[in-house]
Amino acid sequence: MAPYIPEIAETAVNDVNAIVERLRKNYETGTAFPVEYRKVQLRRLFWAIKDNEELILEALKQDIGKPCLEAWISEIGMILEEIQLLLDNIDRLAGGEKAVVKLQYKALMPHVRKDPLGIVLIMGAYNYPFQLIFSPLIGAIAAGNAVVVKCSEATPATCYVTQKIFADALDPDLYTTVHGGIPLSTELLAQKWDLIFYTGNSTVARIVQQAAAKNLTPTVLELGGINPVVVTKSADVKLAARRITWGKTHNAGQICLSPSYIVCHSTHVDALIQGIKDTLQEFYPNGVKASPDYGRIVNNRHFHRIKKMIESSNGEIVVGGEFDESQNFISPTFVRISDRHDPLIAEEIFGPACAILVVDDFQSIPRLVRDIGDTPLGAYIFSNDANEVKTFMQNTRSGGVTINDVVLHGGVGNVPFGGVGESGNGRYRGLYSFDVFSNQRAVVKTPGWIDGLLNIRYPPYTRGKLSK
Ligand code: NAD
Repeated sequence: MAPYIPEIAETAVNDVNAIVERLRKNYETGTAFPVEYRKVQLRRLFWAIKDNEELILEALKQDIGKPCLEAWISEIGMILEEIQLLLDNIDRLAGGEKAVVKLQYKALMPHVRKDPLGIVLIMGAYNYPFQLIFSPLIGAIAAGNAVVVKCSEATPATCYVTQKIFADALDPDLYTTVHGGIPLSTELLAQKWDLIFYTGNSTVARIVQQAAAKNLTPTVLELGGINPVVVTKSADVKLAARRITWGKTHNAGQICLSPSYIVCHSTHVDALIQGIKDTLQEFYPNGVKASPDYGRIVNNRHFHRIKKMIESSNGEIVVGGEFDESQNFISPTFVRISDRHDPLIAEEIFGPACAILVVDDFQSIPRLVRDIGDTPLGAYIFSNDANEVKTFMQNTRSGGVTINDVVLHGGVGNVPFGGVGESGNGRYRGLYSFDVFSNQRAVVKTPGWIDGLLNIRYPPYTRGKLSK
């Protein structure tokens, strides 16, 4: 029998100030400073996640229809690996860094301390409701901060499980969860933080940044984008079709890194469409809708948003196009468009639809990609020509790139993950998360005897060539 997940109570907006003040007071006692304390929190978190695996999987199923294997790999397994990685490296990371300086400054022993920032707010999005809270949280704990997390209100079951894991594992004096909608978020953003780590859409990111500006609070913004996939003449088109179909069907396309549109060389377009159809048949032999391995759209509002975007396209649906509102089901849908101004690619779709644009050359592609969306989160190229890959990389921008595949640069763990321009700023994941949540303080210690060498700095300036 599936485990029972009760309804989660909303945090009272009026309580927010007291919650933040309590954490700040506790943080100032220095409890979180010793690395041993942080390790204990991380170990306890590791085991609490393991103990609650079944509950997490059930919550993700209830909230967003996530298939078990997808949920385990991308939400649980990834987080457990990340905790392990940070535990293995925390002593070295917290020990700071020696600076590389010129010989004459070596006696000053320049180094970088990595102190905690203080009290941080982490706000997550609904598509990976567990991972997007716990991945930054691990970095924040490892670096010694106190933390308030707010899960997306669109995924209440996962919010409940998050709250339970906090209660099972973490010191309530320094780490807490809050739950609620826009009024709660607004009140949270009105507080003074030492960092706001926000994952979500770029409209709300602007609200976050404006609120943060009042206190000059730094922000990390993990946003989305219109992610291109290029399939050149030299590509293995069957492989491209299979991998693109995987990237588009995973989490029912609700991935910030999901392919938004394909720019395909004309010689391959028929084979690409056929390859997508064949792959769907292979992945879901009894049909996509009947398969337990295909998710659902998170809620009715997003179902209608995505449906409207597909219907607004002037292109031709070549794969999919089925909708079932009663289940918030949208089949993987590929639309052949003829115009780069098509409404389907005017903004991020964040669902299981993808446009296909056909081109006859390679040269025009980087310009086309820049014109459609200059700063996507992910960019993908399927090509067996190293010069094409080099030209594509040099002439486009994105948060990350995967070559001959999609999405994977966001899944390998210890590489910096984040966006550029419209897709956000700041980088985290694995060991990179430690620095995001650290105050990197430059320290030098000047011995008295060094004035013999550094005397030139003192007035009157009569000792050097520039003394006049
Ligand atoms: P969402 O609706 O869950 O909202 C995200 C957060 O913003 C929530 O915590 C919510 O409470 C808060 N919020 C919503 N409206 C607000 C308001 N008016 N004022 C203050 N806070 C508010 O999720 P979403 O934003 O729709 O998420 C989807 C977006 O997130 C997509 O654009 C996707 O690409 C992006 N995303 C990015 C990443 C990444 O790592 N770069 C990962 C996942 C999702």
